[in-house]
Amino acid sequence: MNTLRDHHFDTVQAVAIGGCPNHCPYCIGRQNLQTGGIEALNLAQPESEEKLARALAYTREILGCGSLTLTGRIADPLASPKYLEVLGRALKRSDETFPQIQVQSSGITWSQTKLDTLKDLGVSVFALSTTDMFSSANNARINRTPERLAVDLDQLAKAIKLSDFTLRLCVNLSDIYNDTSYANMFARAQELQANQITFRTLQVSGAPDSPESQWIAGHQYADPDLVGLTTFAKQAGREIGPLSDGFVAYDVGSVSVAVDPNCLAREGDNTYAKNYVILDQDGELRTSWAEADKDSSRIEMNDKEE
Ligand code: SF4
Repeated sequence: MNTLRDHHFDTVQAVAIGGCPNHCPYCIGRQNLQTGGIEALNLAQPESEEKLARALAYTREILGCGSLTLTGRIADPLASPKYLEVLGRALKRSDETFPQIQVQSSGITWSQTKLDTLKDLGVSVFALSTTDMFSSANNARINRTPERLAVDLDQLAKAIKLSDFTLRLCVNLSDIYNDTSYANMFARAQELQANQITFRTLQVSGAPDSPESQWIAGHQYADPDLVGLTTFAKQAGREIGPLSDGFVAYDVGSVSVAVDPNCLAREGDNTYAKNYVILDQDGELRTSWAEADKDSSRIEMNDKEE
């Protein structure tokens, strides 16, 4: 069992329970699917809300997390309305909220009502994950989104801004961008009125023979270390200082950027090298995404009494 002394966590990443109608060819969750995975809480049972509330209180009061991110393994928070409902109740059990709450989503199944639900939860940042930021049709095609659920990125971005969220555009870099300049990508981000843009290189982190790992290996972005992005940001932008995670942010036009070439690499180590803790789909806190480490990376929530 890990001990938590002397380690600082900034963020809790809450894993949605539900589903995702997309079938992205690089899906990190599917890449890491293993038999005997982590069983999700049954959200119909009141104990599930209690378990989530206890874990959230622990991350805020004992671990000192100031930021909550709604994300998923193979579930998109927006496509998991029951989870948002139960998590919302769990959050409201405490007087103390997280100073910053963000959602990471592909936007699938979005509606104004769902955006209002996120507002009610206290979400201020919408991190919109894209596979092709330039073409909603190609984005849906590559993500294998059911036709009736295809997301119009322009419409969604507009609704996010009208609802007064900070819009962070997350660009999952694959070979489809090999002939696209960073200047064009920033221009498109400006067109979508994004406040921030994040570039993610896709990395194999699960079984190398999984379909997702093979797709990633066969569709690598030509600049995997984002050297060109760093050069572009320095030349075209203005440095706006270091971030809490050590990366340097730049302002390019009206869009801010920080380069993190490894942010999708959910390596299987079991150390406290990261500054976030995972509130997993079984209501347990962990320090590793690797399902193989589900026991060894679990945090015992008993420090309160020490
Ligand atoms: S949207 Fe996310 S959870 Fe859904 S298939 Fe794509 S990568 Fe996986």
